[in-house]
Amino acid sequence: MDVQILTGYEGSNPQAPGNVEQNDDGSVVVRPESEDGDSNYKFAFDVTARNPADAPQPLKLTVDWQEPPEVGTMYMGGRRCIFLINGSVCRELDGRLDGDKARFDLELPPGDTRLCLHPPFWTAEMEAFFADAAKLESGRIGYGQTAENRTLEAAWLPATGRAERSVLAIGRIHPYETAGSFFVAGILDLLAAEQGRALRESTSFVLAPMVNPDGVAHGLCKRTTTGTELSTQGVSSNDPAACALRGLVCGVAAAAPNAVLIDAHGWMIREDGPIFYSSDLASAVLPELSGELFPNGFRVKDYSDRPADPGTTDLRRYADEQLGMEVFVTSHPWFGRGPADLRRIGSALTGALLKALG
Ligand SMILES: [Zn+2]
Repeated sequence: MDVQILTGYEGSNPQAPGNVEQNDDGSVVVRPESEDGDSNYKFAFDVTARNPADAPQPLKLTVDWQEPPEVGTMYMGGRRCIFLINGSVCRELDGRLDGDKARFDLELPPGDTRLCLHPPFWTAEMEAFFADAAKLESGRIGYGQTAENRTLEAAWLPATGRAERSVLAIGRIHPYETAGSFFVAGILDLLAAEQGRALRESTSFVLAPMVNPDGVAHGLCKRTTTGTELSTQGVSSNDPAACALRGLVCGVAAAAPNAVLIDAHGWMIREDGPIFYSSDLASAVLPELSGELFPNGFRVKDYSDRPADPGTTDLRRYADEQLGMEVFVTSHPWFGRGPADLRRIGSALTGALLKALG
């Protein structure tokens, strides 16, 4: 009974059965897909290996990223490890790089094992997020519908006293970046702790860990199903998810005298990459962060001196320059971390950010 590779389910990449090649010798080649061919965002890989036997079985797996010659091995460092998830067991496995291919020798336990570059954060994880949020007396709000009629949802945690500040945290502009969703979920851990209870007196929170569910369902890398990139085209696009997100950002900006936008990503470069739109904020936040959370270093981008662009189509610039929000964009890759680590980063970094804002 050979191992079977399942694909085509919501969130899988590849989606097309033709991109899985099962050879007679039992080895498998999987070719990940990209909706626009942009190698810089081509980090989606998610299939399920089914072992129908009662005993573990080996599997030789090749993930063939099919890079054009001008890209070559440039992004392969972020594709060398995959997660193996079997029931509640999640472990990371190091592979071998061979040009633009990553090769893995697996020992698969009986049953289904999810093989992926990013631990999933999809409908079950969203339900767990809302269950956690409900313990903090939150509301579950719908803020729109996507092009494919999925409901866009967020947790709404109003200030327990008079709201002086409103915070919107979003994840998953880029569908594969589940790290961003776990980051946003981690903000619930901050709010459940002592610092969070004090914060909630004067701060309201809207947490939206999944702003591009259509893209996630189709296993996309960067865009919505209508081809929109929700950050750089977030102001100009008529995609329903873009319109809804724009409305949410405007609503949160108008809800309190001070408003903050946190946009969490999971791009697969080794160093963590926060982008500050204010140098003062950067110098107040960075000393508060424990180095243990960021073992591969911390590369900061400072956008505070960038000239304003009234015609911008970028949602973050729009929020900063035209809505007067404090904007903080941040990206955290895996490289030895798991979902619990990303939750810790979301909690710690948001706590440091809000402490710095006073
Ligand atoms: Zn991203």
